Amino acid sequence: MREEIIYLLKLKDSPDRKALFDLANAVRRDNMGETIFIKGIIEFSNYCKRDCTYCGIRASCKVKRYRMEPDEIVEAAIDAAKHGIDTVILQSGEDPFYTTDIMIDIIKRIKIGAKKPISLSIGERTPEEFKLFKEAGASKCLLKQETVNPRIFKAVHGSDYEIRISLLKTLVSLGYIAGGGDIIGLPDQTPGDIADDIIFMRDNGIKMVGIGPFIPTKNTPLENHPVGSADMTLNAYACTRLAIPNVLMPTTTALGTIDEGLQYKGFEAGCNVIMVNFTPDKYRQVYRIYDNKRKVEFYETVHELLKRGKKLSFSVMKALKEEEMV
Ligand code: SF4
Repeated sequence: MREEIIYLLKLKDSPDRKALFDLANAVRRDNMGETIFIKGIIEFSNYCKRDCTYCGIRASCKVKRYRMEPDEIVEAAIDAAKHGIDTVILQSGEDPFYTTDIMIDIIKRIKIGAKKPISLSIGERTPEEFKLFKEAGASKCLLKQETVNPRIFKAVHGSDYEIRISLLKTLVSLGYIAGGGDIIGLPDQTPGDIADDIIFMRDNGIKMVGIGPFIPTKNTPLENHPVGSADMTLNAYACTRLAIPNVLMPTTTALGTIDEGLQYKGFEAGCNVIMVNFTPDKYRQVYRIYDNKRKVEFYETVHELLKRGKKLSFSVMKALKEEEMV
């Protein structure tokens, strides 16, 4: 299996690659249907206590920081829900300012006000906290492993490898739709490492996967490291779809940062999710995980998807019709 994935990851434009994408697409269709799911993301704080070497909001980066008030977060989530989006994602750096109680309060209020599935992407918390967040109403949680190669993880990430992997397994056992994922193009990473990531996610009950190419960011230790391969990212999408047929897999914003068209190409390689940004404008410019992050606007995205003949969920179409946008 590992050798086959490595072979597929390395494919360049060729009939074999086209066959891989066609197969990934068929597997997506058979297991998840034709719908492209739209998730609305609210980046509510760019404070982070970690110092991942690739990240533009790492603790030692001198960037303007912001935190949204709980009321603002709830309001933004309810606004996103009005657009019919399929999931509200609450994303932040690892920011202890939002205590367990504050997070529980936010989750409960969004659950009642937005009536949408809530996904957390807030870094590492204790198993007890994740349990409480689940009870409060969060149903999905993303904690990308970034790489299952412990040596590379140690070199680029600010946390403990064993704890992170164990937390990811905890999320699965708590009943979350748990999200993993990796970065394509980390220093010293080989196609074998990426194959190991895919096998790890398949074998550990991961049902959401975020895979994106490495994008260098100024004033970080990896600012001169080359951009990750878009081709390999797309191949990794296809391989992940074959390994985990019912996965929820966004075509990531990082891919769209290299080239806008590339993000939509992800749908040809087995992706079935796209994320749109609902962070209030006054904060959005400041949340820079990497440079030149593309603004993925809701209407721009849905119109592009519809233009390309994609099927959107009932709730998104209903909201668009109500606003007479279609
Ligand atoms: S990748 Fe996440 S945990 Fe690491 S510095 Fe950036 S926001 Fe913090």
